[in-house]
Amino acid sequence: MISQLPGATILRYQDTSGPSVSCETAGGDSELLARLVTDLKVRLTGRQSDFIRGLGDGLSHIRSSERHVRAGECIGETHILRLRSHSCDLTEGEPSMGRGPYIRRSARAISIAASACVIVVGAGCTSGTAADQTGSGSTAASETAPPNGQIEQFTPALMTVPTPPRWFTGTDGRVHLVYELQLTNAFPISATITEVAVRDAGKGTVLQTLSGDQLTAAMSLLTSGSQPTTELAPSTVGVVWLDVPLDKSSAVPSRIDHQLTVTVPPGLPVPESITTVGGASDVYTNPPIVIGPPLEGSGWFAVGSCCDGPHRRTAQPINNQLWVAQRFAIDFNKINDQGFLVVGDKSKNESWPTYDQPVLAVADAEVTTAQDGFPDQVPEAPTPVTIDQADGNHVILKLADGTYAFYAHLKPGSVAVKSGDLVKIGQQIGRTGNSGSSTGAHLHFQLMDRPSALVADGLPYEFSSFTLTGHGPTLADLTTTDPATTPVTINTTGAGPRTDQLPLSADIVGFQTP
Ligand SMILES: [Zn+2]
Repeated sequence: MISQLPGATILRYQDTSGPSVSCETAGGDSELLARLVTDLKVRLTGRQSDFIRGLGDGLSHIRSSERHVRAGECIGETHILRLRSHSCDLTEGEPSMGRGPYIRRSARAISIAASACVIVVGAGCTSGTAADQTGSGSTAASETAPPNGQIEQFTPALMTVPTPPRWFTGTDGRVHLVYELQLTNAFPISATITEVAVRDAGKGTVLQTLSGDQLTAAMSLLTSGSQPTTELAPSTVGVVWLDVPLDKSSAVPSRIDHQLTVTVPPGLPVPESITTVGGASDVYTNPPIVIGPPLEGSGWFAVGSCCDGPHRRTAQPINNQLWVAQRFAIDFNKINDQGFLVVGDKSKNESWPTYDQPVLAVADAEVTTAQDGFPDQVPEAPTPVTIDQADGNHVILKLADGTYAFYAHLKPGSVAVKSGDLVKIGQQIGRTGNSGSSTGAHLHFQLMDRPSALVADGLPYEFSSFTLTGHGPTLADLTTTDPATTPVTINTTGAGPRTDQLPLSADIVGFQTP
């Protein structure tokens, strides 16, 4: 079989029986074939004898069994340099219609068939095994065949899972397996992702299938997380921001892979719809760390929590690597007993119930970073900051299991610890503020695998105990109302005490002091 696109280098011969050989192609363009044959006649000038000899050697051991020949591989005394930049359909004198892409040829046709498929340079192999050079058959065949009989096919969108999936239990009672499936469109044409199926790679069962509006909502270009799309322009990178719901933690697979369906425009020498399997990754199956409350009291609105807010889709290129440190971050904003986020003059931090609240250590820990001295921003009128100033006044704690807890935007002068201090769970380490990259008083809280707010992988966590008061509006809905005149509406479905769960986005929770 020969499958080609510009710049591609995949080639396979498949022997049939007797003196004939088959050449399977993705296209059926006889006009293109004519062009290829003409072109190759020119190319073969002065080299035809080498070419024929080399091809013959190659076929002689191809005939011993089905085998595959890779571009650049020695198939005898001839070195295949690369494939032509078009698909070929070897139709000399015979129409291919009605016979599919798989065509038998006479012995005479073999040289033409091969001519249209490879470009040959010189004689003699510069690399390869002894078996290759002697044409001794099966050894070479086994070395060059794709593993496990896998068929070579073009995969326009290359799948990778940059960091292992991790899970937590949310306030919906479900286990959420969260990670990113990165898709690189390696075609020089646009590709549309039409379906993504997450599979348990061990059992082969499908855990989640996304298509249509669900897929669009879950996917964006790499650094444009707020703009859903399933279209990948040539050479672009997309991400499916996966949140795979499972019934229980025992259903978390140890390894996942994906079945991806991509469509490309018609008229190309590849199928318009291509389905492939890839993006295999081990899963971090250990339970998430369980921590105490970072705040105390009621009315804490978990803005931007997992798994659909801006934190979730913040992939930041820092120090030559992409990091999703905020994957499970929450911006805690407090509403008062009447449901208001602000009372009085909105331009004053003190008007916001969130401001100047105690911030607590979530576990016994060592302080690795304690930064104070940054001023508060003016609410809803922040001054731009640099990356060094983005966290504002902040604290990083190293927990017993080696993970790190990060608290940002604290009130100036409130940081009550210093680097190297040992703190106890529930100990006050600062107070909520509006410093750094912040438009209003809030506590940004996250766990990560390194002592950096940005250069780290964001980790899931669960709070050991809290009360779910209800669910507030989405961030998008919240920004369309005036917080000074419109109280936050709370849907109390499912309200009640919770243990070992992570508040989901827009949950409103209350904490007891440990
Ligand atoms: Zn935040």
